[in-house]
Amino acid sequence: MRELRELKNAQPDLATAADMQIELLGAQRRVQSRVPLPSATFDRRKPDNARCSPVLQFKDIPIDWTDFRLMIRQTADILRRFETLEQPDYDRIQALARDGQIEAVVASWYETTMTPARRQSDEPNPEKELLDQVLLLAMRPFLARCAEALLPRLELSDWHQPRCPLCGGEPEFAFINPAAERLLICSRCTGQWRYDPITCPYCENSDRSRITSFTSRDGRYRIYACDECHRYLKAFDGRDGSRPALLAVDSIATLPLDAAAIQRGYNS
Ligand SMILES: [Zn+2]
Ligand SMILES: [Zn+2]
Repeated sequence: MRELRELKNAQPDLATAADMQIELLGAQRRVQSRVPLPSATFDRRKPDNARCSPVLQFKDIPIDWTDFRLMIRQTADILRRFETLEQPDYDRIQALARDGQIEAVVASWYETTMTPARRQSDEPNPEKELLDQVLLLAMRPFLARCAEALLPRLELSDWHQPRCPLCGGEPEFAFINPAAERLLICSRCTGQWRYDPITCPYCENSDRSRITSFTSRDGRYRIYACDECHRYLKAFDGRDGSRPALLAVDSIATLPLDAAAIQRGYNS
């Protein structure tokens, strides 16, 4: 929160995005503080690298459905207030929060992992993408709690996949640690895992000459843009050991880098 306020002062053109993020983070933290520890323990469990299957089953996530409905409503309220949601979409999402089928909707969202192959073959569906985005934000307190409790107990030395070993989510961001390793940060549970420093996590292209990389002006952030699938990944360069990656802050601080990448023809 403090870092977001500092960012707002340093870069006033990012103030609206930072304000929205502060509210989303506040809602997430209030609910996350009430989420119980998951009952599964996972001590030294190895996710199956060969079958690329993450370890956390939907039934193992400690979801309180009253709190989940609250998260959906609050997320929609915040997005609407910052004009990121149109009224009809807002109404649809509020209706979903009251719907008795919500558990099935969330289970199916959780179990459909977003593989690059599927992304390419599916027709673009903005309505579904929007709903997925709201579900992702509403599920975050529950999944982040699981990541805190369970990810450090997994044995990950054999996991070389670009998907989260815990929940199967796609990476949303990356962190370059003081050992110059690249860790991917899960878009769903915000957990981190080591991944090859160059390979594109979306299509697994590892041809160095087909990855375009550039940094922000201050050198703190880096983009890896793939010339095969045209998607890009942003990273916080923490080699100086100054701080860990902070997804809520770094995703806002890098909005100008997103614009630069999109201008060059890449997609997030
Ligand atoms: Zn995850
Ligand atoms: Zn790629």
